[in-house]
Amino acid sequence: MRFLAANRIFDGKQYLPEGSVLLLDSQNRLKEVVLESAIEKKEIEFFDGIITPGFVNTHCHLELSHLKNKIQKHTGIPEFGKQIITQRMSGFTKEEIFENANAADKEMWDNGIVAVGDISNNDDSFKTKQNSKLFYHTFVEVLGLNPINQLMMLDFGLTILKQLQQNNLTGSMAAHAPYSTSLELIESIANYDKENNLPFSIHNQETEEETKFFLGQENDFKKLYDFLKLDISWFKAPGCSSLKSFIDVVKNQRAILVHNTFSSCEDVALASEKNCFFCFCPNANLYIENKLPDFNLFKNFTNSICIGTDSLASNDALNLVEEVNLLLNNTAIFTLENCLQMITFNGAKALNITNEFGQLLVGKNAGLNLIDFKNNQLKFIKKLT
Ligand SMILES: [Zn+2]
Repeated sequence: MRFLAANRIFDGKQYLPEGSVLLLDSQNRLKEVVLESAIEKKEIEFFDGIITPGFVNTHCHLELSHLKNKIQKHTGIPEFGKQIITQRMSGFTKEEIFENANAADKEMWDNGIVAVGDISNNDDSFKTKQNSKLFYHTFVEVLGLNPINQLMMLDFGLTILKQLQQNNLTGSMAAHAPYSTSLELIESIANYDKENNLPFSIHNQETEEETKFFLGQENDFKKLYDFLKLDISWFKAPGCSSLKSFIDVVKNQRAILVHNTFSSCEDVALASEKNCFFCFCPNANLYIENKLPDFNLFKNFTNSICIGTDSLASNDALNLVEEVNLLLNNTAIFTLENCLQMITFNGAKALNITNEFGQLLVGKNAGLNLIDFKNNQLKFIKKLT
């Protein structure tokens, strides 16, 4: 049995009253929260700093970990996509992919992350996830701009999802992005997730080129599709924002919009009507587009914001504390409590795992981290459980 206390204890949504002590059993599961006055002082392990639940990384691509330092910065999404495709076809061995995914998995664990929403386009990361100490919710992601391929791509994704489940891993279906996935395919994926009460995810408005593509203006996706030798002359731009073009297929369901860098006030309002989660990956936005979302647009939705690291192809580290520090450096609208909630409870809510992670749960070990907050910056000190 352990009694843990600190300057402050954050429970996933707020600070516990001063003088609170966490009583853990021999398996580090929370037994109860007690008051320090009820315990002999010498029994208490006291830590300088803030205790929080283990962190939840809402968006990652473990299978791209071997592309760390391989992709040029600040090229914009169309060129980034081209480089990713080129690198993925350049002959990395299964072994290299596996070893790098393992290292990334360990990096997240060492940085206090206990649960991850992770994109998979194939089964490359499944073995790592099976052997991991972290919990993974895998989003099996498919794409295909031509509606002709809708059923084929959905079937392809469902086959991978089945394979995932046969490996005793948890997952759902996800659409890549509006510029790469037909409305028909997005809808069938969203429907599948809704029918099975699973979270849905889509990359949203990560680049201004996406907006231009949907408004029918000159844009760089033409170059990407030329590179892929795909004729998209049949594509008719809907003449509105990408979010507006698909948001109606999101019904009353758990949906995560990832990035939102170029979302307008109207886009945010439309998404919030659908109770969507907004997942920010600020370091990846700087890496690829050198631009951050207009955080002010999201100030009324702090309960719906979660944070992801994105992959090591577009980030130098898988560290949620660094993502929060970037947020704190670039906007004053979020309090420390808001930010801590984003990387704990909100992430767990988005992934539908609040009964296991993201908060202090009696009978569970949802991870406990010790952090410090000085000069408007968070510092991760260590894992306590
Ligand atoms: Zn991503």
